[in-house]
Amino acid sequence: MSFLDTTKATSYLKEYSQKDGLSVSELMDSRVNGGLTYNDFLVLPGKIDFPSSIISLDSKLTKKITLRTPFVSSPMDTVTESTMAIHMALLGGIGIIHHNCVPEEQAEMVRKVKKYENGFINDPVVITPTTTVGEVKKMGQNFGFTSFPVTETGKIGGKLVGIITSRDVQFHEELTTPVSEVMTKELVTAKTGVSLLEGNEILRTSKKGKLPIVDSEGKLVSLLSRTDLQKNQDFPLASKSAVTKQLLCGASIGTLPADRRRLTLMVEAGLDVVVIDSSQGNSIYQIEMIAWIKKTYPELQVIAGNVVTREQAARLIEAGADGLRIGMGSGSICITQEVMACGRPQGTAVYNVTEFANKFGVPCIADGGIQNIGHITKALALGSSCVMMGGMLAGTTESPGDYFYRDGKRLKTYRGMGSIDAMQKTDTNANASTSRYFSEGDNVLVAQGVSGSVLDKGSITKFIPYIYNGLQHSCQDIGVTSVDDLRAAVKAGDVRFEFRTPSAQFEGGVHNLYSYEKRLHN
Ligand code: IMP
Repeated sequence: MSFLDTTKATSYLKEYSQKDGLSVSELMDSRVNGGLTYNDFLVLPGKIDFPSSIISLDSKLTKKITLRTPFVSSPMDTVTESTMAIHMALLGGIGIIHHNCVPEEQAEMVRKVKKYENGFINDPVVITPTTTVGEVKKMGQNFGFTSFPVTETGKIGGKLVGIITSRDVQFHEELTTPVSEVMTKELVTAKTGVSLLEGNEILRTSKKGKLPIVDSEGKLVSLLSRTDLQKNQDFPLASKSAVTKQLLCGASIGTLPADRRRLTLMVEAGLDVVVIDSSQGNSIYQIEMIAWIKKTYPELQVIAGNVVTREQAARLIEAGADGLRIGMGSGSICITQEVMACGRPQGTAVYNVTEFANKFGVPCIADGGIQNIGHITKALALGSSCVMMGGMLAGTTESPGDYFYRDGKRLKTYRGMGSIDAMQKTDTNANASTSRYFSEGDNVLVAQGVSGSVLDKGSITKFIPYIYNGLQHSCQDIGVTSVDDLRAAVKAGDVRFEFRTPSAQFEGGVHNLYSYEKRLHN
């Protein structure tokens, strides 16, 4: 038997053989293959001739906003408030602050993100001059620190009159003495606008533990802390406005008339991008809302949705959307497909909508159903520019809510915005959940989501870098050097795919072990 010349193997491939695997259009032909989820297919490996560290994950969020990491946190009341939004932006993504709260509260959260300066404590615990020594000692036990700035009002923004430290109260036995009698009044302060570097230098030379930052009238603006000096991380990928250098911030609104005032308050607070939050985006209410926003705030970027078909997308693109959000029924807390009979498997939805929207230069966010790094790679390969995550980021230090223990596990609540719990949040004007599902006039609420709990995941300052590195390695395996490159190579038919049968999915998971521990990162 004669064999072919081994030195000609690659040229033989090019000349005689069909490309291995399937192109994305063959894979995603739902007339033949049905609707697919991320688990139903794999990306075939390519050629590695570069280190993963050079891979760029820059990607568009909207027509005018590009992020250094394609990660977006979902506008849900157990996922994104100001702390999450600040840290998502610091790490190169963006947080979308939920609107299941009164408009003023949401605008305040936006303001907090926009005013955030890395290293500065913008919401320090502040006391009044009449606070007693006993109370300070108790606060020390509760908070784990005993230095508090003292202002006339007992709040940030009040005139700074002193600072109290553990040394001031340590040997003071009379617990009813007001702090005004024992606090340090000779203060070393710095003026607003001082850089982190300058502030740290003042702390070092003055040998003080805390440096209050005050405005021109002596009102407290923020605080620098010596103990935080080493903790101040550098965030080279941070999502910032090129002009103001402030962190980028997004927030959601509904499509009710009252949402116009809500948006106005947030634009005044510095909002960069608004997400019109609806489970079914193709409605006249949303189209009218886009038209109003584009007329009133032409500079504001508008992400419309949610959509899962080209027809839905076409209406919103025509209305002026700067980005689209794709997904209906794929979220981890979602029962929409079960209850409404409406929705689409997420892989098929992402492919069909992005294939259409990308022709018009409208970037798309794959929203819901992301359970691991592989799903992120697949969502991007299918044409999305960013991924939105709820469950992946719930249970982190930065997500809203307190931890609690059950069955020996440390947990946080994670709930769908269409869960009865979320829809029954009774704040005035806070009808975010009901309006998302067009249910604000209903006597009997029909749930489209559940309320549950998720395990403590630690801080996103570790979790996002883990996803970032993982995504770089995934691109390296595929043989592409950037997210843009990935999408282009898929479109050109160079990146190929394969179906996964149920037994292939079983094979792809850990199997036949007596026991094991799944540690995802160090
Ligand atoms: P996850 O990342 O899989 O947990 O999905 C989060 C996404 O689910 C959100 O960004 C929303 O698009 C969607 N979602 C949020 N709440 C609900 C709900 O109650 N029912 C259905 N979908 C929801």
